[in-house]
Amino acid sequence: MRFPVNDQTNGWANALPPRIASPAVTQDLRADWLVIGAGYAGIAAARRLAQNEPNAKIVLVDACAVGDGASARNSGFVIDLPHNVGADLHDADAQNRALRLARAATHALDTLVNTHKIECQWSKQGQFLAARSMQGERVLDGFIQGLDALNEPYTDMPADDVAQRIGSSYYRRAIHTPGTVLMQPAALVRGLANALPDNVELYENSPVTGIEYGDIVAAQTKGGTIRADGVVLAVNGFAPDFGHYKNKLFFIHAFASMTRQLNDVEHASLGAPDDWGLVPAMAFGGPTLRYTMDRRLTMRSFWAHSHSGQVTQVSYDKARKLQAKQIKDRFPNLPPNLITDTWMGLITLSQNFAPGFGQHSANVFTAVCQNGVGVTKGTISGLLAADLATGRDNPLMADMLGLGQPARLPPRPFLDLGVRAKIKLWEHQQRFEA
Ligand SMILES: Cc1cc2nc3c(=O)[nH]c(=O)nc-3n(C[C@H](O)[C@H](O)[C@H](O)COP(=O)(O)OP(=O)(O)OC[C@H]3O[C@@H](n4cnc5c(N)ncnc54)[C@H](O)[C@@H]3O)c2cc1C
Repeated sequence: MRFPVNDQTNGWANALPPRIASPAVTQDLRADWLVIGAGYAGIAAARRLAQNEPNAKIVLVDACAVGDGASARNSGFVIDLPHNVGADLHDADAQNRALRLARAATHALDTLVNTHKIECQWSKQGQFLAARSMQGERVLDGFIQGLDALNEPYTDMPADDVAQRIGSSYYRRAIHTPGTVLMQPAALVRGLANALPDNVELYENSPVTGIEYGDIVAAQTKGGTIRADGVVLAVNGFAPDFGHYKNKLFFIHAFASMTRQLNDVEHASLGAPDDWGLVPAMAFGGPTLRYTMDRRLTMRSFWAHSHSGQVTQVSYDKARKLQAKQIKDRFPNLPPNLITDTWMGLITLSQNFAPGFGQHSANVFTAVCQNGVGVTKGTISGLLAADLATGRDNPLMADMLGLGQPARLPPRPFLDLGVRAKIKLWEHQQRFEA
């Protein structure tokens, strides 16, 4: 079995005060429902199970502390639009399904952030899809066609307007779409865990080392066995280690860096902008950039792949060097060496970008494989897995099931070679945007 590890490098978590984790499992436990994995999917599933069955006891368990995993390591875009708007003009139904699911997730998160006053820099700024090159501009044109087909609002911004808004004249054009929310992911996921209903017991730093399925599900941890009438697996790319989606999911490692907070002079040199978020025209592969409410720049670029989920220090060093250059290229007036943290997070993908959502036996449900858009997709798949498990009608269920199931992958080592080749292709395709 592979296990997630926390390398303590995550800049979002390091920017927050230390968190006191919930206890680890130290004895055998009995629950009505067990949810494994406390990222967006698992937290949403646990919350919804607790709401659907207020008298039930729900145990939520994670291998690490909340805020250590991918849910706290991402770029903090709560994305409403499908990544491939414009690429799939013929499939408006699929795009609309994805939109409805993402909007429901955003609404659910928005309600929780407001109700529980979760301080996570929640910011309805929308996002920029930006192009540096003529090739990138052509992608923007296709994106606009997609937005028009979906009747979605946007602002087409020339270079000067983009420069004024973000404080960099690096881009020749951008499309601003208003529906994306920006946030501090470690603060959000911690806040969501802290706001769980009373009938959810959270156990952290308790890797599940084995699982037995049957009328009662039994999950072993070092400290004790958790037995439950049913289980929701929300372990993302680790689902094959729990016997599900074998040869159907794979990891890529995405690297990101964060700067220290800019001082007043540095902030003024950018034109003292509000916070913003920018994704590249070639969404997969290109650099994603944020300027946060607390005046930090974050850059997500650089990819690697390993089956184990582990990478070497060489990859971190390469990522940091590249991201320092990318920040310098965009903000030449800022001083060098602003980066304080460089981290890696796991993105779980399927070949056909379908989620690992569904029911596998009478009492086993999954909400895994969010294909790089896990803030919304993880949230909604966790919520819907809980509804599926408890038999609660939800009009979004048909949308979710309509996304299909992950396709079979080629066997290893062909898979590893193929993924690495794909990463090289992405790097090549977005070289004019880097
Ligand atoms: C650098 C980066 C940038 C990204 N940017 C964005 C973005 O801007 N917007 C967006 O929507 N998405 C983004 N993503 C993707 C997003 O972070 C993921 O899709 C999301 O975190 C998936 O949520 P999840 O709850 O399904 O899985 P995860 O967050 O991966 O949670 C799964 C949990 O399962 C636990 N687990 C695994 N195995 C075990 C075990 N044996 N026992 C117990 N627990 C276990 C793990 O510890 C983990 O906490 C980004 C990802 C990365 C890495």
